[in-house]
Amino acid sequence: MISTDVVQAGLDIPECSLVLRYDFVPDSIGTVQARVRARTVGCAYYLITTKDSQNYMKELDNRQCEQDLKEVLETWKGISSDLFKEQVMKKQTSLITEWNESLTKTLITETTMLKNIELIGDVLCRACGYLLGKLSQVRQHGQSYFISDHDFYNRIEEKVSSEPQEYLKTLVTGKALCGSKNCRTELGCIQVLKDYQKISPIYPLKCESIKIKLIEKETGKEQIILKKKWKKMPFTIPLLEIPCTQNNDDIFYDAFDILPSD
Ligand SMILES: [Zn+2]
Repeated sequence: MISTDVVQAGLDIPECSLVLRYDFVPDSIGTVQARVRARTVGCAYYLITTKDSQNYMKELDNRQCEQDLKEVLETWKGISSDLFKEQVMKKQTSLITEWNESLTKTLITETTMLKNIELIGDVLCRACGYLLGKLSQVRQHGQSYFISDHDFYNRIEEKVSSEPQEYLKTLVTGKALCGSKNCRTELGCIQVLKDYQKISPIYPLKCESIKIKLIEKETGKEQIILKKKWKKMPFTIPLLEIPCTQNNDDIFYDAFDILPSD
């Protein structure tokens, strides 16, 4: 019988006494599965491949892996089931602790972003009342106050300048106008943060161009706040937390690196 590796997984042929694999080695499970297709007394299993080739090395690894597994099983046989349980529990606890720690680190970043979520209300264009975004999404970064919502650019009209103004840490590339066609009041500027290209551009809003509709959490009462400076707002605006972005390039590189060359 000549077949692809489809036979190796689960097809039982009791009469089979010889398995020849022709230059194909997937993983250690595959190797074991293929070998045990041959189960009669005096059966044999061979791999035909070039010496020292990728498949040759893989097969050696797979066979070693199987050997290691057999040894582990032998060791386990000598351990009482109580001790075995204890060791499994110990390993499990340490894995859970590890996992919890890494999860907490991730959550710290996210919760600092959300801690001011109790600020309920809207940011509106002061001239026309057009809705610009949620108050809970307003963030401060240096002297800039802006709505940290990816969709914010849909609520404004960008007027890109032909001559960007360069500052120490920022690049101002234009103006942000009210998104309402009949208004087009200048709300602020378009700013690229040189240190944080990934979250750029941001659109810092001039406090005198916007108004805040604050909604009291308990009573649901609305309050309109008009200020000339963001610092004069009767609430604290959270600072922008730059998410800790992990560089995954290495991982992808490694994964790519071990792909079979064919
Ligand atoms: Zn407007």
